[in-house]
Amino acid sequence: MIKIQTEDAKRLQKEWGDKPCHHPAWGKECYLATTTGDYVCLQCGLTASPDYYEILRNIP
Ligand SMILES: [Zn+2]
Repeated sequence: MIKIQTEDAKRLQKEWGDKPCHHPAWGKECYLATTTGDYVCLQCGLTASPDYYEILRNIP
């Protein structure tokens, strides 16, 4: 899984706006050199905790 910086996730969120997203691809959020443990949708920039990530992944 690729890593994505917190700043990049925020930028993705701004660019994507309120459009619906099926979260097709995820990266691991990292701040500077440290992973935060959260996941980021690479399309819309949504940040998800590990629990929320599992829920989203299990929605068909
Ligand atoms: Zn998404």
